[in-house]
Amino acid sequence: MTTSEPSAIADELAGRLSPATIIRRDEPMARHTTLRVGGPADVYVEPATEEELGAILKFCGARGVKFFLLGRGSNLVVRDNGFRGVVICLAQPNFSRIEIDGLRIRAGAGAKQKAVAVEAKRNGLSGVEFLEGIPGSIGGALRMNAGAMGGETFNAVESVRVMDFGGDIRELQPSEMSVTYRCCATLKNHIALSAVFRCVAQPRTEIEQRMKAYSEKRWSSQPAAPSAGCMFKNPAGIPAGKLVEELGLKGTYVGGAMVSVEHGNFLVNGGMATAQDVLELIALLQAKAKAERGVELHTEVEVIGE
Ligand SMILES: Cc1cc2nc3c(=O)[nH]c(=O)nc-3n(C[C@H](O)[C@H](O)[C@H](O)COP(=O)(O)OP(=O)(O)OC[C@H]3O[C@@H](n4cnc5c(N)ncnc54)[C@H](O)[C@@H]3O)c2cc1C
Repeated sequence: MTTSEPSAIADELAGRLSPATIIRRDEPMARHTTLRVGGPADVYVEPATEEELGAILKFCGARGVKFFLLGRGSNLVVRDNGFRGVVICLAQPNFSRIEIDGLRIRAGAGAKQKAVAVEAKRNGLSGVEFLEGIPGSIGGALRMNAGAMGGETFNAVESVRVMDFGGDIRELQPSEMSVTYRCCATLKNHIALSAVFRCVAQPRTEIEQRMKAYSEKRWSSQPAAPSAGCMFKNPAGIPAGKLVEELGLKGTYVGGAMVSVEHGNFLVNGGMATAQDVLELIALLQAKAKAERGVELHTEVEVIGE
């Protein structure tokens, strides 16, 4: 047996890490994505501490084992044959703390975006209300520079604590990071451990009203069925959802995957969709947009796996 075999990788990791770190073999990724599709990860790990995360990264580096950092899987399509390598998820409590210090919030990468928005509101802190309805983690918000309702993550970020793939930790200022629309490229080769958000003090009732308005706006325009949020980046000149609607493609389906009738940029899982259904539907929309309007649609959602 070689160390590239999943059982050997899992056994070797178990031998190096404490029992508090969760290690599973053949973990179905459909359980870890909001779209509810995706085959198994060879090895799935939830490190208990930063030290153990560092040890996992060093192990993968030394053995040439591929790894993927999973947040809450709300911006992901995992292919049906799953992921050959190690999926690492910062879901344990050590990575999910939310601490308030005056006008600052330090949030772990594993914390839910909504939890940070709610904690800010509870403390009369404004600036991260837009995170309220985004179903991802803070790590995912940083990597994607997630945004909504006119706000985006890096507007409020003061610093980000990161680990490089060798296990070394640094605190970076946004000015030291490459940040663009829905992308923080620095986090393609670093792991976000936590971030400090700088807020402003405001009466709690005002923050609450704003969050309520955001929530109403979101739920009046977005489907409740499982999805990965907006599938495509907005091309120049027209929102992707509007383009899909104008092309008459709302309600189009492939197998169990369908273009939402509520929002043309959401592809939803009717319950039995496979990743292949989703990918074929994506390809169909891209082909129609290109053929009928000359527009290239690029996915905002990341596609991984075999
Ligand atoms: C119903 C719905 C509504 C949505 N609405 C919005 C919206 O309004 N605005 C918006 O911007 N997005 C929206 N999204 C998309 C998605 O929620 C965001 O992109 C979110 O920030 C992804 O976070 P995640 O934890 O789920 O990341 P994942 O999907 O798990 O991962 C996304 C990327 O982030 C990387 N990543 C995750 N954690 C870390 C980390 N700690 N360090 C480095 N890289 C990391 C992953 O490797 C991957 O490349 C929506 C999705 C859904 C399902």
